[in-house]
Amino acid sequence: MPKIKRDKSYSQHKEVARQGILFNKDFGQHILKNPQVIQSMLDKSALRSTDIALEIGPGTGNMTVRLLEKVKKVIACEIDPRLVAELQKRVLGTPFQSKLQILVGDVLKMELPFFNICVANIPYQISSPLVFKLLLHRPFFRCAVLMFQREFAYRLVAKPGDKLYCRLSLNTQLLAKVELLMKVGKNNFRPPPKVESNVVRIEPRNPPPPINFKEWDGLTRIAFVRKNKTLSAAFKQSTVLALLEKNYTTACSLMNKAIPEGFDIKEKIESILSDCGAAEKRARVMDIDDFIMLLHAFNKEGIHFS
Ligand code: SAH
Repeated sequence: MPKIKRDKSYSQHKEVARQGILFNKDFGQHILKNPQVIQSMLDKSALRSTDIALEIGPGTGNMTVRLLEKVKKVIACEIDPRLVAELQKRVLGTPFQSKLQILVGDVLKMELPFFNICVANIPYQISSPLVFKLLLHRPFFRCAVLMFQREFAYRLVAKPGDKLYCRLSLNTQLLAKVELLMKVGKNNFRPPPKVESNVVRIEPRNPPPPINFKEWDGLTRIAFVRKNKTLSAAFKQSTVLALLEKNYTTACSLMNKAIPEGFDIKEKIESILSDCGAAEKRARVMDIDDFIMLLHAFNKEGIHFS
């Protein structure tokens, strides 16, 4: 039975292509054509029949129809009205019709509704903002199983010292547990993209770590401008010094506090860095705890990044 269904969805998909619904590169349209890849993504998502699933970029609906078989409701967000029409046609008159809600538009500009789980082969060009949109979404969802361009996936999971370790790795891992699930070759898509892909599982940390994210962002941006530089060098940049001095003066005046005599922002920063043993460290080898400790040390001394 499932096999017959699968064949049907397949031929419908071919039909779409034959009708000349041409895939639009600007929207990152690469349809997952291998049903086994779709099946593995769903298996790894551990879907529950009570789940509300969010799918971003359903395209012609190859994954959507499989999701609809497994969960209570699918909310699919699609920017291309032609594909929305195709998807609607595909479920029309089936029991799935009432379980599918389509949101038409750019997912990045939308307020997302409540969902338990997100499963999607997403348009790769929105990977980074989408990950953070999901991670900042409340209430928390259980997990997201998403297809990404391989290098992006490797960045998400990179550890301190890895070649691809960067601010994206640090920020994602601050807010979530991330895990590579499988490699997916480009020929599983139609048209094949130029790059290879990987499926990643992202599980938000609930509760999130108790830190001020604006401060965190300010500190890590400075540290990662040149991730191979020592922190001492990164903090000697004149723009950084000027910004931190300005923040310091503003904070003092807000608290009605006089700036200590002979205050020198450069010396202050040097002493904080060396007290933390961080002056000679480089961002590329620092982990989340290193940055949290450093942030607290700066903030304790009245140095703020936002
Ligand atoms: N998930 C489908 C299609 C993947 S292609 C499949 O695996 O077969 C990516 C899909 O995302 C396309 O349907 C594209 O139109 C849609 N898309 C691109 N940018 C989007 C955005 N900003 N918001 C919502 N959907 C988008």
